[in-house]
Amino acid sequence: MITLNKPALFRQQCYIDGQWIDADGGAVLPVTNPATGETIGSIPKMGADETRRAIAAANASWGAWRSKPAKERAGILRKWFELMLANTDDLARIMTVEQGKPLAEAKGEVAYAASYLEWFAEEAKRAYGDTIPGPAGDRRIVVIKEPVGVCAAITPWNFPAAMITRKAGAALAAGCPIVVKPATQTPYSALALAALAEEAGVPRGVFSVVTGSAAAIGGEMTSNPIVRKLTFTGSTEIGKLLMQQCAGTVKKTSMELGGNAPFIVFDDADLDAAVEGALASKYRNTGQTCVCANRLYVQDGVYDQFAEKLVAAVNKLKVGNGLEGGVTQGPLIDANAVAKIEEHIADAVAKGGKVIAGGKRHALGQTFFEPTVVRDASAEMLVAKEETFGPLAPLFRFHSDEEVIGLANDTEFGLASYFYTRDIGRVWRVSEGLEYGMVGINTGIISNEAAPFGGVKQSGIGREGSRHGLDDYMVTKYLCMGGI
Ligand code: ADP
Repeated sequence: MITLNKPALFRQQCYIDGQWIDADGGAVLPVTNPATGETIGSIPKMGADETRRAIAAANASWGAWRSKPAKERAGILRKWFELMLANTDDLARIMTVEQGKPLAEAKGEVAYAASYLEWFAEEAKRAYGDTIPGPAGDRRIVVIKEPVGVCAAITPWNFPAAMITRKAGAALAAGCPIVVKPATQTPYSALALAALAEEAGVPRGVFSVVTGSAAAIGGEMTSNPIVRKLTFTGSTEIGKLLMQQCAGTVKKTSMELGGNAPFIVFDDADLDAAVEGALASKYRNTGQTCVCANRLYVQDGVYDQFAEKLVAAVNKLKVGNGLEGGVTQGPLIDANAVAKIEEHIADAVAKGGKVIAGGKRHALGQTFFEPTVVRDASAEMLVAKEETFGPLAPLFRFHSDEEVIGLANDTEFGLASYFYTRDIGRVWRVSEGLEYGMVGINTGIISNEAAPFGGVKQSGIGREGSRHGLDDYMVTKYLCMGGI
């Protein structure tokens, strides 16, 4: 159980077609608090049948939802946004208990997640089309935007609320219903959002949450011809599988997949600002974000100084249960996450890296891990190629702009990238040289609802947030008006 101001936000049933229900056979899955190892509660273990019903309910709700004036849909989204803010403390507490992130970060995520509902409530009214001068005198060309149709979303555990609202906010604004499958580790944030959606007046069927078997739910979402769009945030491996599964019914897809973010510090950078940015980018959510700096490239002339300053800052981070005051680093999500960071550190050390901060499991036990810095990293190491998804900062040395752009781009991923410099010419050259969907220049934090979030290469397709985020849930219809 979780103690809340509004106990009705802690739901152990799914929300389908406006009803709170159990799995058909009553099967459940336990949900664990990663900071304590204790069971928080259970969730229904649903599969294809329940998912099919949620999709049918979404389809039944679609006509009335899309026909509402955008202003009305916007009003409901706005109400949902306000309810999220009004219940910030409870939503944050649920998130910290199921996910592990420090309470302050969880509150930050609630505000961030809610901002997508606010943004798309506003954008709903701006689904503009075009009028185009035609090639013949007796014809006019008009282009209108329409909702793509029933959407399905599969979301990860690292941002249990925001990864849902930036999909659902856009879908609902565009006039689409959506069925969400949250990560099995963090279902309670999703179910609390459903409770608030209900309170906000989202009509039955328009927003449903189905928990349970990922393969069974995902299989139905990707094969059911009623579903017109699948939106996914998670690993590149599962994203590729889902794209293949969607091919059978040619669904529109948005894929927000893995990254391998370079974080570049040039000789002329403000080093204190770069350290602050590196801390934010690397250690936020204990290194478990898809935009986390994964490879820190530091120019030769400032390498030692930067390493020293970064270690001093990292040693001040406080590891512990996210509910405790002052904690900045919660536990990792599970034992596999600990195994991966241990593997990356052991591999780096075997290939000449030196651990200069942290390096091992934390004395607190569970999945707590010491914030770690490794110097003398090189391109042969695993950490140069794979996303660690944990609190490990490897420091690579470089000499020239061309060299570091080549190194930064030497990956199949292309989500976020960062660099620090004060030279305006270099800002443009490097920004244009980096093959990434997002570039942070003299900042380690880039995500917000007004900006288009997304990747290139194998980091995904589509954009979330901004006006482009609405477009991803719409289709273009061309009206050719003749006989004029
Ligand atoms: P992570 O490594 O971050 O957990 P995953 O890609 O495994 O990333 O998980 C992201 C989301 O995808 C979660 O909701 C998970 O349950 C879901 N998922 C995992 N495997 C499948 C699958 N075979 N089909 C559909 N969804 C899946």
